[in-house]
Amino acid sequence: MTAQDPRDRSVLVVGASAGGLATAEALRRLGHRGRLTFVESGVHLPYDRPPLSKQFLSGEWERERVALRDDTVLAQLEAQFVLGERAVALETVTRTVETDMWRSFTADAVVIATGVDARWLPGAQDLFGVHTLRSLDDAVALRGQLEKRGPLVVVGNGVLGSEIAATAAQRGIDTTLVGSSATPMAGSLGHVGSAVLARRHQEAGVRLIGGKRVRALRGRSGRVRTVELSDGTELDAATVVIAVGSEPQTSWLVDSGLTIDDGVVCDEYCRAGEGIWAVGDVARWQHIGLDQRLRLENRTNAAEQGLAVARDILGEGAPYTPLPYFWSDQYGQRVQVYGSMADADHVALVDGALEDDRFVLEGSKDGEPIGVLGWAMPKQARLRTRPLLDRIKTRSASALGPAD
Ligand SMILES: Cc1cc2nc3c(=O)[nH]c(=O)nc-3n(C[C@H](O)[C@H](O)[C@H](O)COP(=O)(O)OP(=O)(O)OC[C@H]3O[C@@H](n4cnc5c(N)ncnc54)[C@H](O)[C@@H]3O)c2cc1C
Repeated sequence: MTAQDPRDRSVLVVGASAGGLATAEALRRLGHRGRLTFVESGVHLPYDRPPLSKQFLSGEWERERVALRDDTVLAQLEAQFVLGERAVALETVTRTVETDMWRSFTADAVVIATGVDARWLPGAQDLFGVHTLRSLDDAVALRGQLEKRGPLVVVGNGVLGSEIAATAAQRGIDTTLVGSSATPMAGSLGHVGSAVLARRHQEAGVRLIGGKRVRALRGRSGRVRTVELSDGTELDAATVVIAVGSEPQTSWLVDSGLTIDDGVVCDEYCRAGEGIWAVGDVARWQHIGLDQRLRLENRTNAAEQGLAVARDILGEGAPYTPLPYFWSDQYGQRVQVYGSMADADHVALVDGALEDDRFVLEGSKDGEPIGVLGWAMPKQARLRTRPLLDRIKTRSASALGPAD
């Protein structure tokens, strides 16, 4: 980077969504006054993705409400938004980003905030009625399709698939949720929380099929008609949503020389190269408090990591060591997980009652606390996170070594 005052450095953010916007806003808050440019392949100003599978899909919210900021607040950022232009290459020595419109943008600092994209099943894209849900345009299309009613099959029983099934069932749509885990979101809630979620789905009329994979989608006249499972079961479908995970948006970086390995590989400061950072869903950084490389796909991380990256661009950085956290809203209730529940070998109920759908679980492994799950009990859950935070703090301090 050039040797000027870091507050005057030009910053180019590739991807104008939660992570990129959080970085830009934190920069300005911390006194950055240099040129700030966003290059974004989509045509919309920054919007929030969590409501797309919930309030927007249910019809409760219209598209204006998913905007992350209103126009006045965005104008105050004094940033240039280059929309509808995809970054196709990064030259790391000069920090120059080329776009598909044959333009190039050079800056003192580049922030890679390109997120992830939905993974498809082979051949599924050719059939009408088959959807994924990642962008606002995806959500508009899916919402329109659901209005036609007809049976819905959601393929993938992770967080996103479970949310879509919950929203659709509450709209009165005949919904089946199919996935490879035995119960929904078992990979993130652990078996106890997942069993409660399974009950909630069943009470709402969702048909759950666990431990099964999809063999094929079959159509007639170009429209999807059935979903065939690995055991030969055939499910009628007017609409299919594929929610089988995501791929980090890194194809534009293949020739950059940066290390790409299920995301942009970064050090503990989220630096991917000289004057280059990655933030949000796309970033796989070294978490020194957990002693592992981590890539988190959640909204809170995008915001917190944006702040950490902004500080580092301004020369005030510190290793980024958050307590992993995510939330999901289903059936009007907030489910929160701190740390990891899926890896727990012991789960204890520490507050509330499972049958009331208000409770807090603590997960431990080899006798050490590793996770907290709160179900409609946000305050009580947060209060239980102290041992998890302390452990990260202690390990981070020992990784950094004694201060001089
Ligand atoms: C439907 C849905 C529901 C969700 N619900 C929850 C939830 O309940 N709780 C939770 O914690 N998290 C949730 N998430 C996850 C959360 O939205 C993400 O973690 C967050 O959006 C990550 O922000 P990001 O900026 O890293 O990436 P993204 O939001 O994916 O943004 C990346 C941006 O980069 C742009 N881009 C990609 N490639 C290029 C390129 N080559 N050139 C230019 N621009 C490019 C994309 O168009 C996009 O705008 C949900 C996500 C979805 C899709």
